[in-house]
Amino acid sequence: MAKPGVEKPPDRKRWPKQLAVVDQAGCTGCEVCLEFCPVDCIDIVPGESDPDVGKVVEIDLMECVGCTLCAVYCPWETIDMLPAAEALEMAPHYTQRTRVYADKPYPVMEPA
Ligand code: SF4
Ligand code: SF4
Repeated sequence: MAKPGVEKPPDRKRWPKQLAVVDQAGCTGCEVCLEFCPVDCIDIVPGESDPDVGKVVEIDLMECVGCTLCAVYCPWETIDMLPAAEALEMAPHYTQRTRVYADKPYPVMEPA
C-alpha cells in the first residue's frame, strides 16, 4: 500500500529499473535518439527561446522501457539513465514538461 502522499503510478504495472532523462541544456535536437528508441517515446519539441529553432527532445517516462539506447548513442551525452524513482523526480528539472506532456505530469514513486 502506498504511503500517504505517494501516488501509485497510473497505467504502469511494472517500472523498469532505470529511465532515461534528457538534460535539455545539452540537447542539440539532432534527433539521433529518436532513431534508436524501440518504443518511440521520444518526441522533438520546440525550443524554449524560439519555437522554430533550437528544438530539443522530451522523453515520455510513462513509456520508456529503460533500454539505454538513447543514452548510449546521444552524440552530446546529454541523456542520463537514472533509477526510476529518481528519474521521475529529476526529469522535470532537466526536461521541461510544459509542452507536449503538460497534461500528463509524472507520478511520484517510492524508491526501490
Ligand atoms: S541524441 Fe542527444 S542531442 Fe540529439 S536530440 Fe537526442 S538528446 Fe538531443
Ligand atoms: S531508454 Fe530506451 S526506451 Fe527509454 S527513451 Fe531511451 S531509447 Fe527509448
